[in-house]
Amino acid sequence: MAAEIQPKPQTRTPVLLNKIEASQDVVNTAVIIPKEDGVISVSEDRTIRIWLKRDSGQYWPSIYHTMPDSCSCMSFNPETRRLSMGMENGTISVSDCFSHQGRVTVVLFVLEMEWVLSTGQDKNFTWHCSESGTQLGLYRTTAWVSGLQFDVETRHAFVGDYSGQVTILKLELDSCSLVTTFKGHTGNVTALCWDPVQRVLFSGSADHSIIMWDIGGGKGTAIELQGHNEKVQGLCYAPHTRQLISCSSDGGIVIWNMDVTRQETPEWLDSDSCQKCEQPFFWNFKQMWDSKKIGLRQHHCRKCGQAVCGKCSAKRSTIPLMGFEFEVRVCDSCHESITDEDRAPTATFHDSKHSIVYMHYEPTMGWLLTSGADKVVKVRQTQCLLRQRLDRQPNSDLFSTNWSFDQSQIFSHQIFFRVELIEG
Ligand SMILES: [Zn+2]
Ligand SMILES: [Zn+2]
Repeated sequence: MAAEIQPKPQTRTPVLLNKIEASQDVVNTAVIIPKEDGVISVSEDRTIRIWLKRDSGQYWPSIYHTMPDSCSCMSFNPETRRLSMGMENGTISVSDCFSHQGRVTVVLFVLEMEWVLSTGQDKNFTWHCSESGTQLGLYRTTAWVSGLQFDVETRHAFVGDYSGQVTILKLELDSCSLVTTFKGHTGNVTALCWDPVQRVLFSGSADHSIIMWDIGGGKGTAIELQGHNEKVQGLCYAPHTRQLISCSSDGGIVIWNMDVTRQETPEWLDSDSCQKCEQPFFWNFKQMWDSKKIGLRQHHCRKCGQAVCGKCSAKRSTIPLMGFEFEVRVCDSCHESITDEDRAPTATFHDSKHSIVYMHYEPTMGWLLTSGADKVVKVRQTQCLLRQRLDRQPNSDLFSTNWSFDQSQIFSHQIFFRVELIEG
């Protein structure tokens, strides 16, 4: 029997550990509770639920709380067990202070600052003191915000919106200044992810692409990652294994090896004739007339950026080191220059088998959670694992502890719960 050629070791397909199917409606956000084998979910059905894993290996609802309106987003801080929530109605009127006029789209709790950052469909970006509930500052964005990240060290906020741009703001206690804007996507920004160590920002978009913005490197490079066939829905970075995990609305999960050095894609060059065979393009009437040739359609080689005709760019290739994990148009000479080694994929592709609405990655356990439009939450084990958990003894203490909601604060537009573990 002929020996099979073993492929190079690659990221194993994330193994499905559990499915949670008991929600009445779509779970807009769900997070894994580290060390507890638990999941917190907030849903369109107005509930916040805590699911704990039982002896049977299944997650069962431990407690739930019903909110006055649909829960659109959430931020959970495991250290303080504080849950920050955004709601559909944007407003819970308990005081005269500012509230969002419309669905709260993103909420982010920053423990180090005791700040809660939030954005709404009203195009307001606000930050509140999480202790007092006082609104500290406000910034009007150009469009609905769909992605929000914060760098604690330098107090920069990254705000991604429906116009496709990312705005960088420097936040002070009660004011902010516009630092710059990044424009690279042709569709809405749908997700943002910040790696504070390498100081790299990832943005995902409805245009199916991801851009890696090198903020810390000082070179200002923007590297495109093309590996999805649909709108990017979520981005998570696994710092220990230097992998970027992205997902799209068609259920695709891509795990990118970020340990490789990728290059920027070239600018597309302008030319009135093919830069290989010199045949005129169809708008170049003079040359068409002079040389008695029919004008051709213009294409661009994705590797060198040259303007070429279809005949000179008939071949396709992946260019993983430029972020193209799918085959793209390349000119003949570039096609020759790309070796099989160059074509080795730098990402692995997986199918979550549901249309993903939200994704969360828990780095200490290497668990990946996806919430789908099918009202199901799936928890998977990735190999992006920090701590070996297999030797862990079943924790009988877990079932003697009770969770309870302690409604500690109500803001104008968000409700805060401190979720406490009470010894049973
Ligand atoms: Zn040509
Ligand atoms: Zn080329």
